[in-house]
Amino acid sequence: MTDSSFVATTDLLGQSIRELETLFAGWGEKPFRARQLMQWVHQRGSVDFASMSSLAASLRARLAEQVRGPLPRVVRDHVAADFTRKWLFDVGAHNAIETVFIPERARGTLCVSTQVGCAVGCGFCSTGAQGFNRNLSTGEIVAQVWLARALLCSSESASPLRLRAASMHHRYPAPALACNAASAAAPASAAAAACTATAPALDRLRSEPPAHPLALEQAPAEEESESGKAISNVVFMGMGEPLQNYEATLGALRILLSDLAYGLSRRRVTVSTSGVVPMIDRLAGDCPVALAVSLHAPHDDLRSRLVPLNQKYPIAQLLAACRRYLRASPRDFITFEYTMIAGVNDSLAQAQALRDLLCSVPSKVNLIPFNPIAGSAFRRSTTQQIRSFAEVLLAAGITATIRKTRGDDIAAACGQLAGSVQDRTSRTVRMHRAAGRSPQAVSTW
Ligand code: SF4
Repeated sequence: MTDSSFVATTDLLGQSIRELETLFAGWGEKPFRARQLMQWVHQRGSVDFASMSSLAASLRARLAEQVRGPLPRVVRDHVAADFTRKWLFDVGAHNAIETVFIPERARGTLCVSTQVGCAVGCGFCSTGAQGFNRNLSTGEIVAQVWLARALLCSSESASPLRLRAASMHHRYPAPALACNAASAAAPASAAAAACTATAPALDRLRSEPPAHPLALEQAPAEEESESGKAISNVVFMGMGEPLQNYEATLGALRILLSDLAYGLSRRRVTVSTSGVVPMIDRLAGDCPVALAVSLHAPHDDLRSRLVPLNQKYPIAQLLAACRRYLRASPRDFITFEYTMIAGVNDSLAQAQALRDLLCSVPSKVNLIPFNPIAGSAFRRSTTQQIRSFAEVLLAAGITATIRKTRGDDIAAACGQLAGSVQDRTSRTVRMHRAAGRSPQAVSTW
């Protein structure tokens, strides 16, 4: 960056402290000014330089002159009956990404996207069916957290999320980080409108038992301590394969963990991968956070059909990488995601094969009931079959939980995120031609 260049506002969100210090050094500013700016942007949620009272007026003026451009626009803001909230953010050139907030008893989890679409092409995933357009920048990944927090804060007083938390759980205090009303003003109206629309749903929820019949998963007691933050956990499980956009993902992780920014603990940030083995090793060295692996099958032949990347990095290589990762991981287990698809990967024989496979890796298995997506012939496994599958794992001492399906009425559940992707690969076009449809038919925007 030079004096004559300007920084896009989204890029500002992706600047590390070192990059800001370098920029400020070029302006003759002291390093502590960079730290102050980082705190204003990420902790106070402000990109309104005029309001940054601890910065000198001359620096504020220079920032206002050289940092410009809009943040991603909120195209849609949906709140599900269970208060899962999904945003569609415009990232330019007719592309949009999805970000999902999942409120729970003791934590608030934000699921962020790392790519516009995904090139891996898993057969059960709506994102994979959209094709791939481009990687997101570090700033575009962090912007999802920044915007989500602003939207949650701006609708806090009127939000059913808060009302429900206060009335049912008594453990969902105000966010630890202050909101900047000015910067959040534009999205606030959309957020409030979306929340108001869910009032009947709130009444319904209050009269229903809170737990899903399949809800075996409980937040561990240790999770309670940081529940005061609106967003206490961030998972890289939205659109895209994070480890195929490694540098931007790494930059975003470092900002999320920074005490000058969001200050999340490594245990509360999870990267989910379909198994990019070399990058699992790099992540262990660069920035180890909790790791989740999309497994979905106990054998290579089936996994290669469900997760095509398995042809390049088969299960044995993947599990070896997981064992290596555990030496650096903040958690003493790897989470394995396993989507339960009727008649495909849910037999008891397959449960036994999974049990035998995972005996060499400290594991937690998340069994995810398949969420229907348009055009898929797959069906969700029955409740009884999922329970029987889980029992095989539990009997062998493997922690197995059945994931609550959250937000499936707004297509915010696992595998349902589609966004709006102008596919730049030929795969989707071929797929839709084969099915006799127009590629545009997959767009949700
Ligand atoms: S499941 Fe993940 S890796 Fe597979 S296509 Fe979907 S977004 Fe990509």
